[in-house]
Amino acid sequence: MRPVSAATSATPLRRIARSLLRHCPRCGSRGIFRTYLRLRERCPSCEYEFAAEEGFFLGVWVLNFAVSEGLLFLTLIGYIFAMAATGGDVPLLPVFAVGLVVALGGPLVFYPFAASTWAAVELIMDPSRAISRPPGAAG
Ligand SMILES: [Zn+2]
Repeated sequence: MRPVSAATSATPLRRIARSLLRHCPRCGSRGIFRTYLRLRERCPSCEYEFAAEEGFFLGVWVLNFAVSEGLLFLTLIGYIFAMAATGGDVPLLPVFAVGLVVALGGPLVFYPFAASTWAAVELIMDPSRAISRPPGAAG
């Protein structure tokens, strides 16, 4: 287990950077996911509880949805630029195919990043959670 002081001294930017690497936002350790999509209840290193607050996964869903919609928006912008560049001669089927892949694959690929990033956001919004001890710990 990492020392609590190392876990509590991280800046908000560092916590976000850790989470974007799918690491624990509190201590920075790896292995916070049981599988690619399944977040552990607690960090295996510092025992930080990720979903301690009710509604944690709603935040994850909103973040994942926002990024997925952003990717679809970029797909649409790409289509508009392609239309402008070719004078409107862009076949629609490849655009639909890309949109389908982005709409279905984007949320699956980004989900673990949304989960760890939302854990970081909650930790940044409530820094007192960074110094809370795991259950059963002395002190
Ligand atoms: Zn940790």
